[in-house]
Amino acid sequence: MRLMILGAPGVGKGSQATILSRTLSIPHISTGDILREKAECTSTLGVMLKQYMNQGSLVPDEIIIEIVKERIRRNDCSNGFILDGFPRTFPQVTYLDSMLEDEGIQIDAIVNISLSDDEIVRRLGGRRICPTCKAVFHVDFKKPERDGICDECNTPLFKRDDDSELIIRKRLHAYHAQTEPLMAHYENNIGVIHIESDADIQSTTIKVFHALGLNPVDYLERIQSVS
Ligand code: AMP
Repeated sequence: MRLMILGAPGVGKGSQATILSRTLSIPHISTGDILREKAECTSTLGVMLKQYMNQGSLVPDEIIIEIVKERIRRNDCSNGFILDGFPRTFPQVTYLDSMLEDEGIQIDAIVNISLSDDEIVRRLGGRRICPTCKAVFHVDFKKPERDGICDECNTPLFKRDDDSELIIRKRLHAYHAQTEPLMAHYENNIGVIHIESDADIQSTTIKVFHALGLNPVDYLERIQSVS
């Protein structure tokens, strides 16, 4: 299955993509995660990526397209993948459309997850992430058992540099200006399934599974072990 998850930063795309990836055994391609890994390097590219991301701006299309091109061509994507955070601009849509056509493959379903900007600011501002296993916690909604420590692997949690209110608002601005308009393109050809994000990750997951024609009960054990 080839899936695309759309939505503003902070709606829970990453959590839903992670759950789908582990339950359906297809790779989760998060351009944000790939960029964050590359931005750890002290190379010129790493420093430049960090600057874009810390300012809440989109990374240039040429860079992101190269990254996605390389990732989708890997063998583990031959049975499907989940795109999270890509495409975000019209040039990225154009690239993806022509790449899929060249490869003779198509996206099976697109899910758009929505949430109000104010709620996004509240969710992202309290988000805490495990750098090791990538588990996501929240200071109000999903507290770890021990303050600031990952329940899964005991690693100290961190707050992303771009999860400050000022930068979250800039990221939302970039989303509304550059990414939201892409929806019409997909509504007109593949079709988009719209889902409202709930504060409880599992209830959003149940909606996502139903929308994809999958019975969440069949996957319950795996869903519970991931979320
Ligand atoms: P995310 O984790 O998806 O919220 O992405 C974090 C940051 O990575 C964004 O604010 C952008 O700076 C950058 N980024 C991720 N995906 C893309 C993309 N498809 N195009 C441009 N920049 C991106």
